[in-house]
Amino acid sequence: MRVITTVQEMRTACKQARRAAGEDSTLALIPTMGAIHQGHLSLVEAGRTECSLVAASIFVNPLQFGPTEDFARYPRTFDEDCKKLDSAGVDLLFAPEVQEMYPEGATTFVEVAGLSERLDGASRPGHFRGVATVVAKLLNIVAPDVAYFGQKDAAQVAVLQALVGELNLPVRIAVCPIFRESDGLALSSRNRYLTPDQRTQALALSRALRSIQDAIDRGETNSAALRAFAVAELEKAPGARTDYVEVVNPRTLLPVDSVRSGALIALAAWIGDTRLIDNLIVPPDRS
Ligand code: AMP
Repeated sequence: MRVITTVQEMRTACKQARRAAGEDSTLALIPTMGAIHQGHLSLVEAGRTECSLVAASIFVNPLQFGPTEDFARYPRTFDEDCKKLDSAGVDLLFAPEVQEMYPEGATTFVEVAGLSERLDGASRPGHFRGVATVVAKLLNIVAPDVAYFGQKDAAQVAVLQALVGELNLPVRIAVCPIFRESDGLALSSRNRYLTPDQRTQALALSRALRSIQDAIDRGETNSAALRAFAVAELEKAPGARTDYVEVVNPRTLLPVDSVRSGALIALAAWIGDTRLIDNLIVPPDRS
């Protein structure tokens, strides 16, 4: 795996790799903020399967963190990350410094209005502007055929699908399923912040989603009732504080009054100082 830190070199390396791999070659991009875990690696695996070349990026993007958020203490485990990505089959790793991505005086931002203020965007003002800006830059630098993102960040998927569609960017967004621990906890770089006790409390998120799924299986379709099930489940965990539980259309992120298959049920909760998210897409009716 080749590790590259400048925009110019990455652009050239991607073009060269494509030329060397032949006319029909396809390039995958997996953007990450590092602290690589199995969830990230499942995206790499999907890229490996579908494309001939795989690029990944590690960049802890300051633009998507609020002033009181965890940018400074976000886990940075570069050497381990390199080993994992290399073993997973990444060909090119882009790992720029902040200065390289945002030179002094940079004033251009990408804003997906509306969508960016919903779900996590409501709790984290400016977050999706940061995400949309950095992803637009990465897509322009790497020029992949397919960019891979996790369903774990469902609102991010909606924002990026709008970005790519509305700006006519020549790339396909591929969405990979949420990778979970065997006990249900969705993998996240932020899980590293949890103490063993908080790790147990954090299971409240996936349990809350399960309680909603069970209620849907029993025939409940009313969104308010379903949200109440999830909030009750979250509140059972002494260390958990609900940020939001929403039942929405996965494309518009606007609330729906009653669920049907394809609806997005998304939640966020604080476990101590750590904010975690999880979600489910209501599966086709199994009755
Ligand atoms: P991050 O490094 O947290 O910005 O994540 C980079 C990419 O990995 C994003 O597209 C995430 O949605 C995705 N991702 C993170 N955790 C998981 C997971 N547990 N399962 C699947 N994808 C994930």
